[in-house]
Amino acid sequence: MNICSYSVDDYMRLVKSFHGSIAPGLLVGGYMVDLAVKQMDEGILFDAISETSSCLPDAIQLLTPCTAGNGRLRIMDFGRFALSLYNKESGEGVRVTLNYKSLDEWGEIKTWFFRLKPKREQDTAALRDQIVEANHDLLSLNKIVINKDFFSGGKSKGTIKICSGCGEPYPENEDKLCGACKGINPYSEFNGSLIPGARQLKIAGK
Ligand code: ZN
Repeated sequence: MNICSYSVDDYMRLVKSFHGSIAPGLLVGGYMVDLAVKQMDEGILFDAISETSSCLPDAIQLLTPCTAGNGRLRIMDFGRFALSLYNKESGEGVRVTLNYKSLDEWGEIKTWFFRLKPKREQDTAALRDQIVEANHDLLSLNKIVINKDFFSGGKSKGTIKICSGCGEPYPENEDKLCGACKGINPYSEFNGSLIPGARQLKIAGK
C-alpha cells in the first residue's frame, strides 16, 4: 500500500534524508497521515495537530502542506502517539492513533511500541516488514471537532515591542516580557555570563 502519493521505498528514502534515519515511528506515522488524509474531502484546507514531539511531526510535514513553520501544524507534546487533521473553517476532522490493542498479532511492533527490548535487540527488518504488512490495520480512527480556543485561524500576531527584560524584539503580550524573560529560558549562560534565576530546562535524553 502506498503512503500518500509515495511508494513505501520512496517514502523511506524521503524519511532518511529529512529525519536522518528510517525510524519505525515515521513509517507508522506515514500510514497514520495516509489514513487521515483519505478522510478529508478533496480541496479542503486542513490543519494538523501532533500529540507528541517525536516522529509524527515529521510524517505530517513530509506528507501534508502542514509544517511547524507555516503555522498549520501544532505540536502539543502530550506524549500520545496520535495526530489529527481538521478543517480550518469548521474545526471538524479526524484523529488517528496506533491501536495498541491490535498489537498481539504484531510481535515486533508491540516490542518496539512498548519498548519491551532495548533497541539493539529489536529486529529492525522484521519490524519494518510488519508495519508495512499491517499498515492501516494497526490504526484507530475517530471523528473529532477541534475546541475553538485552539484555532489560530486568522488571528493577528500583534505588534512587535522591545522586551523590558532582555531588550530584544518580541510580539507584544500582556506581561510586557518575551517568553524567555517570563521564565521559559533554555539558556543558563549568555556570552559566558550566568543568567541569574534562569530555569534549566531538562533536555530530552540527557
Ligand atoms: Zn525578554
